[in-house]
Amino acid sequence: MITEIKKVEKESVALGKDILLSGGVIGMPTETVYGLAAVGTNPEAVKEIFRIKGRPSDNPLIAHVHKDYDINKLVEIEHAYVYCLIDAFTPGPLTLVFKSKGVVCKEAVCGGDTLAVRIPSHKGAQELLRAVDAPIVAPSANLSKHTSPVTAKHVYDDLCGQIPLILDGGKCAGGIESTVLDVTGEIPRILRAGLITKEMIESVAGGCLIAEHKEGDKVKSPGVKYKHYRPRCETALFDYGDIEGVIERYDKEVKAGKNPYIMCANEFKKDFENKNLLLLGQTPEEIASNLYDKLLEGEKKADIIIAIAMENEKGIFLGVMNRLRKSCG
Ligand code: AMP
Ligand code: MG
Repeated sequence: MITEIKKVEKESVALGKDILLSGGVIGMPTETVYGLAAVGTNPEAVKEIFRIKGRPSDNPLIAHVHKDYDINKLVEIEHAYVYCLIDAFTPGPLTLVFKSKGVVCKEAVCGGDTLAVRIPSHKGAQELLRAVDAPIVAPSANLSKHTSPVTAKHVYDDLCGQIPLILDGGKCAGGIESTVLDVTGEIPRILRAGLITKEMIESVAGGCLIAEHKEGDKVKSPGVKYKHYRPRCETALFDYGDIEGVIERYDKEVKAGKNPYIMCANEFKKDFENKNLLLLGQTPEEIASNLYDKLLEGEKKADIIIAIAMENEKGIFLGVMNRLRKSCG
């Protein structure tokens, strides 16, 4: 199969719609990461997503809809605070987990009774979703366990020959996956941290819990138990501010004939003069936005990526550190 990359425009969106409605799978942009899309009411198309990605069969998919789609068709909204969350943060990088009405097929939710729904804000994503006017399930458009793609080229690198079309909507601005929030309880509960932070959710819903994932627990969001986001090179993760440790490791790798790269926030640039760097930027937003791009750049040129942890795990850094541990820890 030939994989074409086409910029999002009227003709390519119409082509994407045709492929999806005839049961195919395509790559699509969103503001978080690129998605591998299929119509969520078509079991055969959904199975194709799992096959192409090599995704574990117990890890459910998120259904994406356009902003005027009536989500009451898909799920039960059980608590009043949900309307405040929808008002404040959608369209955007927030996924809400509801009780499902069973419209999206059981293959997509792995037989579970809940459905995760997101309304992406990316203009190209909205155009495609509106054209199809049905729930589109879309996990990240990478092979399972690999780093999530934030450009059409990244999708191509992983899935070339497996899908007919990748809609190119530019580099994803958000850069890490959506916040996944369970809204089936009295108080919303974060299952996966992302750009919509605990503090932001608290400010409109009055409260917000963070799910703990302890060994042996029944996992509420299956995806969080898997090794994820790994670049295809060696990695190491050092504590925030451990400049000496990083330099020692870097020098050791060089002595061993290896080509190391240090991945860090811009504030550390001055500490690593004349060394190979993958700079993530300055603000939490910039760092989240560049994280996967730099991991994917790093795996191409480095033998080992030596990463430095964030200063804390507050706000957006909670999501960044979650990804950084899974990719480099
Ligand atoms: P991905 O689309 O690859 O970024 O992964 C989607 C994430 O959402 C995974 O961590 C899933 O386990 C989680 N997820 C999807 N649907 C549900 C659901 N119904 N209940 C809980 N978590 C879900
Ligand atoms: Mg993923």
